[in-house]
Amino acid sequence: MNFQGKLYKEGMLPVYRTQLNPQWKRIKHPIVSLETNEKGLEVTFKHTFETNNDTVYFAFTYPWSYSDNLDFFDYLSEKLLNNSPHIYFYRETIAFSKENRKIELLTISSYKGITDSSEKMLTNLFPTDKIRAKRFDSKQYIFITARVHPGEIPGSFVLNGILKYLCFSHKSDQNVMNLLDNFVFVIIPMLNPDGVYKGHYRTDSQGLNLNRFYMNPSPIDHPSIYAVKELAIYLSQTKRLFMYIDLHAHASKKGCFIFGNSLDYKNQVEICLFPKLLSMNSRHFDYEASDFSMKNMFSKEKGDEFSKEGSGRVAIHKATGIMYSYTLECNYNMGTRGEALYDAEQKKSSEIWLAKNDFDLENTRNFEFIMGNEKKIGFLEPEAYNIEAFEEIGKGICLSILDLFEMNLNKKNLRIIKANLAVNLLRKAPFRFEPGLRKLLKSLANSNEAKKTIREIMSFFEKNNGKNEKIYKGNEVLKEKNENKAIVRNNLKKNPLKM
Ligand SMILES: [Zn+2]
Repeated sequence: MNFQGKLYKEGMLPVYRTQLNPQWKRIKHPIVSLETNEKGLEVTFKHTFETNNDTVYFAFTYPWSYSDNLDFFDYLSEKLLNNSPHIYFYRETIAFSKENRKIELLTISSYKGITDSSEKMLTNLFPTDKIRAKRFDSKQYIFITARVHPGEIPGSFVLNGILKYLCFSHKSDQNVMNLLDNFVFVIIPMLNPDGVYKGHYRTDSQGLNLNRFYMNPSPIDHPSIYAVKELAIYLSQTKRLFMYIDLHAHASKKGCFIFGNSLDYKNQVEICLFPKLLSMNSRHFDYEASDFSMKNMFSKEKGDEFSKEGSGRVAIHKATGIMYSYTLECNYNMGTRGEALYDAEQKKSSEIWLAKNDFDLENTRNFEFIMGNEKKIGFLEPEAYNIEAFEEIGKGICLSILDLFEMNLNKKNLRIIKANLAVNLLRKAPFRFEPGLRKLLKSLANSNEAKKTIREIMSFFEKNNGKNEKIYKGNEVLKEKNENKAIVRNNLKKNPLKM
């Protein structure tokens, strides 16, 4: 990890709390120096002690430890949801870490659609459990993991945001019951408990970056990675896996954003829709900072021996065929979007962007907008992140899943959002180089034809993907689409929109 200069520039500030004042806060003075030496990274900062008779604790960022996790799940299962008639909450130990810590698996849903049968025992997994969680055959499964990189604590707060939204708000918010009645959340909250316990930043107790071993994980050397892959394959074989999200944090790039896989044009629009919706459901999430490039699927980071092909998102997509396989990254400190920008983008999302300049809204972040009777210039006013901001992103993930299925009670115009996305993606590589798509791009540039072209694009997506049940059945449909890929491409060449 080379942080030098970066953390300082991005305002990376450690946090502190005192015995008398247990709330963690960021330190108030800027960092004095950052230095990489043989011991690792050395951070020097100034702090003014408020009283003489108090103990002060410092941390790299807001902490969330292995035992915080266990305590939180004890509270949820034994107090909050004990005998709940609304929420099915099941805790299992899917594996033990190298140093014998529990790697937990949570299953959360409502009782609707619950069957009498239990899930299958999987080879080399569930070492202490006699009975597995109950099966839900009629629901789609959302698989979420966090803390493969132990220092990436914001990932835990995003996950806590999801858990709190599902478990605390089900009586007050009908959207939560919609989620629980239609989906099952399976969650491995800590993929690297040894690294978390030891205070490692990126590796496990053996010095391994576990997020590079998904291609061929060993149940002995990489037990949590083996568990994720086996569970994902099992869920997809039983046609229930809809989405996989691995939660991370990022030290240098600002904002919260998604890494997704690189697919063909039509599927790319489908998988970009989720982060687009997330940017509408959470002002802390930035769609434009997201990366779906082929390069990002196979790149190596500095100091990494293995490429991202072995990362959760890429490997789960390859092993199961599911399209909706993502890495979510949150900067530790700063967002990218001010409230003004968020409001303006919300407004934009309900109309088609025809004029060429309108596309630049996404790029420049400086734009004119009307508020009341006043004309204003909107610009980037990034907000500092705190625990609440991360948790809010978690809630945004839940609402965006509902939006994909048009089940969010706060309805969005999916048709227009998708058309804007489709147009926007046309302008990006590799699609702008595809002959059929290039033709489309040309007719968009001609303002007389633009309207008609966008209408055609919209009907192209509606005709082919009109039925939700069909699109969202994960691997099965993707396989079918792959077989038809050559035909799709030929048709696009002949006639871009009539197929
Ligand atoms: Zn990470």
